[in-house]
Amino acid sequence: MDINTRDFPARARQALGDGALRRALATSNKSFRHSRDQAVAEIPEWQALRTYGQQAKKRAVDALPTALNAFRDRFTARGGQVHFAEDAADACARVRAILERHGARRIVKSKSMVTEEVRLNQDLENHGYEVIESDLGEYIVQLAEEAPSHILAPAIHKSRQDIAELLHRHLGTAPDADIPTMTRAARVALRQRFLDADVGISGGNFAVAETGTLVIVENEGNARLTTTLPKVHIALVGIEKVLPRRRDLAPLLRLLCRSATGQQLGSYISFIGGPRRSGESDGPEEVHVILLDGGRLDLWHDPKGREALHCIRCGACLNVCPVYERIGGHAYGWVYPGPIGSVITPRFVGLGEAKDLAHASSLCGRCDEVCPVKIPLHKLLLENRAQSVEQGHVDAGAGLVVGGFARLVGSPKLWRWALALARPLYRLLRRTPVTRWGALGAWQAGRTLPSLEGPSFRQRWRRRHARGGGR
Ligand code: SF4
Repeated sequence: MDINTRDFPARARQALGDGALRRALATSNKSFRHSRDQAVAEIPEWQALRTYGQQAKKRAVDALPTALNAFRDRFTARGGQVHFAEDAADACARVRAILERHGARRIVKSKSMVTEEVRLNQDLENHGYEVIESDLGEYIVQLAEEAPSHILAPAIHKSRQDIAELLHRHLGTAPDADIPTMTRAARVALRQRFLDADVGISGGNFAVAETGTLVIVENEGNARLTTTLPKVHIALVGIEKVLPRRRDLAPLLRLLCRSATGQQLGSYISFIGGPRRSGESDGPEEVHVILLDGGRLDLWHDPKGREALHCIRCGACLNVCPVYERIGGHAYGWVYPGPIGSVITPRFVGLGEAKDLAHASSLCGRCDEVCPVKIPLHKLLLENRAQSVEQGHVDAGAGLVVGGFARLVGSPKLWRWALALARPLYRLLRRTPVTRWGALGAWQAGRTLPSLEGPSFRQRWRRRHARGGGR
């Protein structure tokens, strides 16, 4: 997915005007929230579990350099191969090198946000490879030539009718086909692709250093087929997914599944510990794990940003975010939307590139409350805002307004004059039909400005003290 974060304000405005998108998001987010709330309510010790998850991720991320080496050693000892990729170009080049060595042309993929992050599909297609997404949502957005708009539900922005029309064009199903018919058609189309694929590419939810195990959680079974049927499996995983201890895995899986989809556990959880061994009836002959930095180490070195690496990509913060619910994922302009996207995107693509994302928040704090590993998202958003200002990424207009306001509040005399002027101006504004005045009109159209009641606080204060009053 290209980086279009600079256009965020324009994209957000456009999304706000898309009624169908807003209806689709409202319905899906409500359903996600409901499932998650019910699943969480079943566990009386949920808050204690969150605290455990927070500590487990902190331990893992703090010990990242050691854990990465431990994972490499253990996974290699089990017959797998581990690579470290510095950035997107490096990751794609490493994938291609493996494909070339095997003379591979056809690739089947299961859902992976990291592969979206490095634009793997585009890179491979540009080099003549045939790539097919096998997760149903990813398959739909691939057919539509779009990017995913949610961490978990890539096609969340599409209505059932949109999907029926898409599959009608590509798979020949009826234009008003029902959901079972559409899923059956997609399954038939994908089945042969699994059988034909030379290489399977996946992501990974966790990589356990103690045992050298890659863990993949899914619901459709496509990731299991992707990692089992082709002769070669390549997993592209962010370095922050490495967990030093096996015992932390089970609590984190409970937190992930309940927060993500409201399930006790995902339908399929695969534990991959290297290639097929002699005597085993299935599995790939070669397994590669490519661990991607892609800006994560810079974040790791920032004590005020490191907590963002604790994310387990459950998507719960997106489902409660009033901003995400109104504009959807594409407006954010890159692969990670919602509160966690607004936190990590500027760190990965540059604060200057994505400075507006830190403002894509009402700072209501609901994302903090649902995060299963207690990431203080609103605090990290404020930190991004502060670092943007420190690095000079401020619009000239905003800089003038804030600088002017700072002068105003820094001078009691100026402040008094401003307040004296503000009251008659405000009364004028209330009486004036400003609905034609661009942004101000749009803002006022949905609001009734309150009237000013009696004298101001300062006037009352002065009068009281003039009378020799006080408390
Ligand atoms: S920040 Fe927290 S709630 Fe949001 S996706 Fe990551 S783990 Fe889930």
